[in-house]
Amino acid sequence: MTGRLFAEGADRSGDGADRSGDDADGADLNWAGNYRFTAPRLVEPQSVAELAAVIRQPGPVRALGTRHSFNDIADTSGTLISTAGLPAGVEIDADARLATVGAGMRYGIAARALQEHGWALHNMGSLPHISIGGAVATGTHGSGNTNGTLSSAVHAIEYVDHRGELVVADRSHPDFGALVVAAGAFGVTTRLTLDIQPSYLVQQDAWDGIAWADFLADPDALLGSGYSVSVLTHWGVPELEHVWGKTRLSEEEAAVGLSPERSLLGGIREPAGVVLEPNLTERGIPGPWNERLPHFRLETVPSRGEELQTEYFVRRSDAAAALSAVRELAAVIDPLLALSEFRTVAADEQWLSGAHGRDTLAIHFTWLPDDAGVRAVLPLIERALEPFGARPHWGKLHLFDADRIAAVVPRLADARAVYERLDPESRFANAHLRRLGIR
Ligand SMILES: Cc1cc2nc3c(=O)[nH]c(=O)nc-3n(C[C@H](O)[C@H](O)[C@H](O)COP(=O)(O)OP(=O)(O)OC[C@H]3O[C@@H](n4cnc5c(N)ncnc54)[C@H](O)[C@@H]3O)c2cc1C
Repeated sequence: MTGRLFAEGADRSGDGADRSGDDADGADLNWAGNYRFTAPRLVEPQSVAELAAVIRQPGPVRALGTRHSFNDIADTSGTLISTAGLPAGVEIDADARLATVGAGMRYGIAARALQEHGWALHNMGSLPHISIGGAVATGTHGSGNTNGTLSSAVHAIEYVDHRGELVVADRSHPDFGALVVAAGAFGVTTRLTLDIQPSYLVQQDAWDGIAWADFLADPDALLGSGYSVSVLTHWGVPELEHVWGKTRLSEEEAAVGLSPERSLLGGIREPAGVVLEPNLTERGIPGPWNERLPHFRLETVPSRGEELQTEYFVRRSDAAAALSAVRELAAVIDPLLALSEFRTVAADEQWLSGAHGRDTLAIHFTWLPDDAGVRAVLPLIERALEPFGARPHWGKLHLFDADRIAAVVPRLADARAVYERLDPESRFANAHLRRLGIR
């Protein structure tokens, strides 16, 4: 069970059942390879009893998911606990429309099991490779004006606390607003119960030729034009480079297909039969929700790999002004940028969620792997977005400190009080959480 940190040969596949080819090459690095963990010890318990035994030993501990975060959020000066070996499995309660899943499972594995039984989640992040426990702990989201973060679907959480005791809390619990998006601040989540709905079909299409100026004149017209819409572009170009729309279809619509005339803001729909990069999910034909809502296929290596990511959340009603403010910086952003992506997220009630209390626009940057260059441009972007009360994505690169987080996360002190009470010896605190005032 125990070993040195990321010892050679350790199983880093995430679920033990389905290797995705998505493991970082570096033995003690995060997925992107931009952060080297400092924890002296990694363990991978295979049961809740083994997990509890690890936590009962003295010293700092932290949960580790699939290591897709871009900063030191998961690290500890003590024992890192990989959740990859914890019991997987998907238990469906059809009457209650709930499914209980292992927190260490990758989203895509649980989603596939749900689909096989005729059930679905409301949304997926861009890649299905991330662990469910890690994704909901950082407020991971997909897109869609009416779609909350992935954590907004959590109905109940099971976790092992600082005493090594298994605790269950559901939406009726007074602390619940602090427990789901918590960045591992008070325990290790073992299982999560999620809202489910009957399976549905989605068609994904791409549009080109939409001018930035037309988009900025009414961002909601484009971002609200489908079940899930993503704008992918550089900032200094006259036209948005790609717009991906994911349309939820009835069986009847799926039989005839989307009307080829359908256009977004006058954009031109990609012709059928375009050859896609092999890691992207299929476009132009309807398919099950779990194979269309993520941008990347589960069985391939997602995204670019050698990249950094940053993302900020602003009020959706501020979209035009916030995007225009960042666009002023196009000349310094674009040379460092692989691609930006704009998505929307419905308001939720998780205290540390990026979309807490406000319908949200997520402004994302996939950077080329130039750490120094990115760190030089982040202060400019953060200053440009300050008037909009921008919040950072917990799992990505940003320069916020505790004071600035407190200014934009209204329930920060309430969440911290819950964590201090649930973990009185600060076993689950780390430098990252202290820096941000979460512990
Ligand atoms: C290519 C790529 C694409 C991405 N796309 C998106 C996207 O579409 N939308 C989006 O919002 N984000 C996206 N992200 C960010 C990603 O979703 C988050 O960083 C997420 O936290 C990754 O999950 P993980 O399992 O790797 O967590 P880790 O990075 O391993 O851990 C993150 C945090 O969660 C905690 N944690 C992990 N498991 C548990 C557990 N079982 N119990 C308690 N705490 C736990 C850790 O302690 C840590 O604080 C992307 C990242 C990459 C690399």
